[in-house]
Parts: sequence; structure tokens; C-alpha cells
Amino acid sequence: MINARSLYIDTEKPALSIIIPVYNEREVLPLCLTRLANVIKKLDVTTEILFIDDGSEDGSPEYLAKQTVREASVRIIRLTRNFGKEAALTAGLDHAHGDAVIILDADLQDPPELIPDMIEQWHFGADVVLMQRSSRAGEGWLKRSSAHLFYRLLQRLSKSEIPADTGDFRLMSRRAVDALKQLPERNRFMKGLFAWVGMPTVIIKYDREPRAAGNSKWDYFSLLHLAIEGITSFSITPLRWVMSIGVISALIGGSFGLWIIFKAIIMSDPVHGYPSLIAVITFLGGIQLLAVGIVGEYVGKTYIEAKQRPNYLVRDEIHTSDAMEAFFEIRSEERNIHVKAS
Ligand code: UDP
Ligand code: MG
Repeated sequence: MINARSLYIDTEKPALSIIIPVYNEREVLPLCLTRLANVIKKLDVTTEILFIDDGSEDGSPEYLAKQTVREASVRIIRLTRNFGKEAALTAGLDHAHGDAVIILDADLQDPPELIPDMIEQWHFGADVVLMQRSSRAGEGWLKRSSAHLFYRLLQRLSKSEIPADTGDFRLMSRRAVDALKQLPERNRFMKGLFAWVGMPTVIIKYDREPRAAGNSKWDYFSLLHLAIEGITSFSITPLRWVMSIGVISALIGGSFGLWIIFKAIIMSDPVHGYPSLIAVITFLGGIQLLAVGIVGEYVGKTYIEAKQRPNYLVRDEIHTSDAMEAFFEIRSEERNIHVKAS
């Protein structure tokens, strides 16, 4: 393929924005940049790379600021602290200028080499090019099977089709991005929001690679949190389940009570109260707590939405060309603080 442009000119609007959320990825960034540059070199669209630094503490943004990628313009947007990947992606979508946007993980689990195929589908008219994992190398069976279960459950519960085994790795046209930006909610379960938008979608299957370096930022607890978030953001079916469970257990409890009264009056049977009472009380108590918990999840969501806080805050935006100056300022500011403190 021919490299149609040599250097990106600032006034030129990029055709393609590549959004990469970064949270403590210093170890993998050099390889990430090399592989990206190799791919971008062969593209015939002007490209910007948008790194969203989600409050890294390992010098990732400082490293990025010193790099220059000949083939693309690089912008680094630093958030004020760690807001989480979903917020970082939202920041990326808000700041991307491209006619198409590709979301990529920094750890190279989403191979950048697939970008040309995605662009090809976009040129054919797709608004969304979804990358579906056909394998998940480097991830244990527990993660794989719980992910499988989660996607199946989510699909049954929510009205919008959330495709199984797709992550955030995808291309979106400007039209799709603008549509997505109209969704103002604070509980940002991105996969669900993407699916809600709809639009002509092409699915490409690929093999998910293991992380190139560094560690995953997700533990099982945060994955469970994401799963609850995903389900409660997109479906109120669990509330109905709770109601049905309540009705069913009330019916069972009620008929059991009638049966005991019947036995006592007609058959003069002395009631063995204690064990049956304990069983009924713990059973109903458990169900009640579960129900309160599920209702609470939704009430909490409403509370968070009602506060209308922004999803993220930007600390600063750095173009690689003026990076040195920007970082000099930061360093001196930090030194001042240090002097005052000692
Ligand atoms: N990430 C982020 N903020 C976070 C956690 C993760 O921006 O709070 C980024 C991370 O740097 C990476 C991507 O999200 O680029 C995916 O994270 P990770 O590889 O840890 O997730 P996994 O692939 O294990 O699901
Ligand atoms: Mg990863």
C-alpha cells in the first residue's frame, strides 16, 4: 500500500482517531507504539492517536509525551485521577476528531494489525465494525466461563442486542460516535451503550492474544461489579424476578400456615413450631435481604444519575510537539510543593 501522507499537519482533520485508554501501562507502551506505527504507516488515511491517561502512576504519560510517531499526530489527554476504563473511553470519544474512531487496549490484546480490515469495512459503509473474540488466549478457564455466562445472561435480560464475546475493540463512524455522545448517563456500561445505539454493524472474528506485558487491571471483584453494573443498567428484569420470588414464597408460607391451622383444629395435632419457624424465618429473611439489595442497586443508580456529576475531569491535554514544555511546568510545580513541605 502507498503511504499517501508523510507528516500530519495540525490543521488537517484526521480521518481516523485511535483511542487508547492507558492506566499504568508503561511496560507495554514501547511495543504498543511500535506496532501501531507499523500499521499506521501502511494506512492511506490521516490518523491521530489519542491516549487517555486514566491517572497512571508509573510514568506512562511522561513516557508518551517524549515519543514522536512520524505517521500520526499524537495527543495525550490526562484525567485528574483514575476514573476507570469506561470513563476514559468516554473522554476519548468526546475528544476524538476523526471521521471514524477505533478503540484499542494499550496492552495489545486487541491486535492493531486488524485496523486495515476494520477501515475496509467502514469504507464499505459499516457504521460499526465489531471485533468478536473467537478465542481468549492467556485467560484462565474461570474468567472465560464466567465471561461466557455473563454475556448469555445479559443477552436474555436486556432488550438491546449486546453481542457475545465482544469487548470495546471496535470501529465507529462519526455518526455512531455522535449518537453515542447523546447518552448522558453516569453509569457507563460501554458495551451496552454501544449496542443501544444500533446502526449497520459488521462483525469480524479474531483471536484474542494474551497481554503483551504488565498486569490486568481487573480482579474478579471488579469484574463482578462490572457484571452487576451491566445488568442493572440495561434491564429491570431482576426487579420483576424479585417480585415473583416474593409472591411465590408468600404463597408457600401462607399455605403452610393454613395447613398447620388445619392440622391443629381438625386433627388436634400439637404444632411442632420451633424448627419449622426457624426454617421459614431464615428463608424469608434471606429473600427479603436479596430483594432489598436488588432494589437498592437501582435506587443507588438513580441517586448517582441525579447528582449529574461529569463522568471524568481532564487535567490537561498534551500534543507530543509541545510536550517538553508542558512537563517542565508540571515538574517545577511539584518541586515547589516539595520545598514548601520540608
Ligand atoms: N484501563 C483504564 N483504566 C482502568 C483500567 C484499565 O484506562 O481503570 C485500560 C488499560 O490501560 C488497558 C485497557 O483499559 O488499556 C484494558 O485493561 P486491562 O488489560 O487491564 O483489562 P482486561 O484486558 O484484562 O479486560
Ligand atoms: Mg487487557
